[in-house]
Amino acid sequence: MYCCEQMSDLSDRDLVRIGPMHSLGDGRILTEIDTEYHLRFGEARPSYVGLNYCPFCGRALSRELWNREKKK
Ligand SMILES: [Zn+2]
Repeated sequence: MYCCEQMSDLSDRDLVRIGPMHSLGDGRILTEIDTEYHLRFGEARPSYVGLNYCPFCGRALSRELWNREKKK
């Protein structure tokens, strides 16, 4: 589920949310990336920023990129 130790750590600290986009209803998603990995900013009404790549290990995290890979 986690690509690396650092991502798991961020999720433990609730700085990253991993799950379907509709489960992020408590905040605002600032990107239009088809991904289940979002950075989380703020408390009461958080902002979410989708990730194409893991900033730590560089693994592709978005469906957009996976689909692009498949077409190759
Ligand atoms: Zn990673």
